[in-house]
Amino acid sequence: MLRTHTCGELRIQDTGKKVTLSGWVQRSRDLGGMTFVDLRDRYGITQVVFNMETNAGLCKEARALGREYVIRIDGNVAERSNKNPAMPTGDIEIIADAISVLNPSKTPPFTIEDQTDGGEELRMKFRYLDLRRNLIKKNIELRHRMAIETRKYMDSIDFIEIETPCLIKSTPEGARDFVVPSRMNEGQFYALPQSPQTFKQLLMIAGYDKYYQIVKCFRDEDLRADRQPEFTQIDCEMSFVEQDDILHTFEGLSRHLFRVIKGLEIGDFPRMPYEEAMKHYGSDKPDIRFDMKFVELNDVARGKGFNVFDNAGLVVGICAKACASYSRKQLDELTDFVRKPQVGAKGLVYVKFNEDGSFKSSVDKFFSQEDLKVWADKFRARPGDLLLILAGNPYETRHALNILRLEMGDRLGLRDPEAFKPLWVVDFPLLEWDGEAGRYHAMHHPFTSPKKEDIPLLESDPAKVRANAYDMVINGVEIGGGSIRIHERGLQKKMFRVLGFTDEEAQEQFGFLLNAFEYGAPPHGGIAYGFDRWVAVFAGKDSIRDFIAFPKNNAGRDVMIDAPSGISEEQLRELNLKRR
Ligand code: ASP
Repeated sequence: MLRTHTCGELRIQDTGKKVTLSGWVQRSRDLGGMTFVDLRDRYGITQVVFNMETNAGLCKEARALGREYVIRIDGNVAERSNKNPAMPTGDIEIIADAISVLNPSKTPPFTIEDQTDGGEELRMKFRYLDLRRNLIKKNIELRHRMAIETRKYMDSIDFIEIETPCLIKSTPEGARDFVVPSRMNEGQFYALPQSPQTFKQLLMIAGYDKYYQIVKCFRDEDLRADRQPEFTQIDCEMSFVEQDDILHTFEGLSRHLFRVIKGLEIGDFPRMPYEEAMKHYGSDKPDIRFDMKFVELNDVARGKGFNVFDNAGLVVGICAKACASYSRKQLDELTDFVRKPQVGAKGLVYVKFNEDGSFKSSVDKFFSQEDLKVWADKFRARPGDLLLILAGNPYETRHALNILRLEMGDRLGLRDPEAFKPLWVVDFPLLEWDGEAGRYHAMHHPFTSPKKEDIPLLESDPAKVRANAYDMVINGVEIGGGSIRIHERGLQKKMFRVLGFTDEEAQEQFGFLLNAFEYGAPPHGGIAYGFDRWVAVFAGKDSIRDFIAFPKNNAGRDVMIDAPSGISEEQLRELNLKRR
């Protein structure tokens, strides 16, 4: 037998038992008369001791063990004289009477510790060693727990998990497709799904009124810390529902996960219209763990001879509580921050509301104390507060102020990773204008239904049309999004026309869906969660990489298996990618 117990399970009650453990050598310490080996497996670490006096031969064998050797030991559980309360097995140790080396190990290229000396690139190259680290293991376990709990909950409310294909048809929807050449169909390609969107809609037409799937999706996009070319969604769809039904159902799932995974009861699930989110937070995914809402100053700040404000479409600011004491240096830092290209502001105006009630600002030349008092009142500022104000084109200025708001939230410790504030952002615009392409894009996707009352605007004023679309946002991260779908052929065709498709193009690319709409399509809608992101948010982390067992790097490469890679001439010819 290779093991009777795991390395995480023995306790003081097991004292005296004869046991066999197998695992990896975390480390060994040689204290002259005694040698200690920490033996590790997925479940924990158990201390094994070898005594020079009672068994010199075995003790010498133990001393020869290297880090990460795979060994089996036989021995007896004994109470430790020197207990370690930080370890679940810290009350006991194993007095060994036999070792067998199951497999030696080279010295690992980095330490298998929480604080490792391995850089990102090295850890990714040896990901199987990185995965041995407790920190990563916990992430992978959290992911598993969330997947299981999602399945349990969805099953409990009658959803069924149905797999949809990975080799599908390329369609111009959202991001770029990854494509797969077909050997049997010369010159033709499959695409990997960006999401199972059309398939889940076809399942609704087929009568499977509550579908979900934990599913891989593929998007050939430029990568960032929170993006991977392949990622996982909790993809869901329901029939005979309106927006409210969907929001309630998935608040249920979220509450369940918060309860069982984080031990938290989520009270209120606020709903915020897109317009309000943009106006108050400059973002469609506001972090509402803290207030610091935008305050607009157009009516009181323009027309006083300060050109920057007079020529701006929008003058808008935030109030940082108790920051009037910021030094010159701190204010300069903030100015440099907003000028960074990712933020994009030209400059920053500040107003200090001094403790004595007076004001000191960077625009004192143009504005009197009375003027500044009017501003401060708009912010409901109090003595000791600091106003930070940006001006310019409304869209860009809101974008920049959003980043500054989050930065101030971080600086002031207002973004506690253990506090969770979910909300729905609702009433998204149906379309967004793409200046470069000279046409509208679907903001969510082309299957999203306009609000009934806005349908007449589709042709006359498309930009005004609101969608039955919603995002779930937690702590400033968009964790899921969905919509009520179009289920009538006529409206879907109209939508394709608005998006610049001719009827022929629409039929060629989406004929399968348009045709299906002729055979009794029920009203339906759904949502998809970015599963990797949700797990990362629950762990209070920004990057999703450490929550994926085998992620890709920034260039979309798997540096461990070295993919993507070239293929042989023979394969190229077989795939008709090269002349015979
Ligand atoms: N398929 C959509 C997406 O991947 C989500 C949805 O509308 O259900 O974003």
